[in-house]
Amino acid sequence: MNDSKTAVFPGSFDPITIGHWDIVMRALNMFDHIYVGIGRNINKKCLFPLEVRHRLVLKTFENVPQVSVHMYDGLTVDFCRKVGAKFILRGIRSLFDFDYEKTLAHINRELSNGEIETVFLFARPEYSHVSSTLLRDIITNKGRCNQFLPPPIQSIDLANMNF
Ligand code: ADP
Repeated sequence: MNDSKTAVFPGSFDPITIGHWDIVMRALNMFDHIYVGIGRNINKKCLFPLEVRHRLVLKTFENVPQVSVHMYDGLTVDFCRKVGAKFILRGIRSLFDFDYEKTLAHINRELSNGEIETVFLFARPEYSHVSSTLLRDIITNKGRCNQFLPPPIQSIDLANMNF
């Protein structure tokens, strides 16, 4: 029997933030392997093209062998099945996140016939105000948002990146 615990951390990562990074690093105490799944959601208009988001997430975890980074199409539960993950990892910052995440967790559980559970970690208080939306606002106004980026990519100037 394979007892290894694998999770998928799905999201848009437009762009990845220090909050996302912190959730994955803390969750490595619970899981043997985490697949960060960057969803190709055609209904969501993103600031960063998928390939750029992918590159930033790859760079963030390049020195963490227990983390793999993939782009995926379609349902998150199908991506979980593909990589053999029985858990979805998500982060919660606020009551607003809680409500949305609760619905998503129930839907994913039903869609997977009870095979896939969602596991939550609360955001650290110091990162609970950090969001990709906030970073996009700063970046589009040519501001510096480096302190909100994951430590491994904090030197990248996202506002002046060619993409
Ligand atoms: P989505 O478009 O699926 O909401 P996101 O990339 O915005 O994807 O977020 C992915 C996950 O990371 C979500 O569970 C979200 O609540 C969580 N998250 C986002 N920002 C933070 C943060 N600062 N601290 C902890 N969790 C966060």
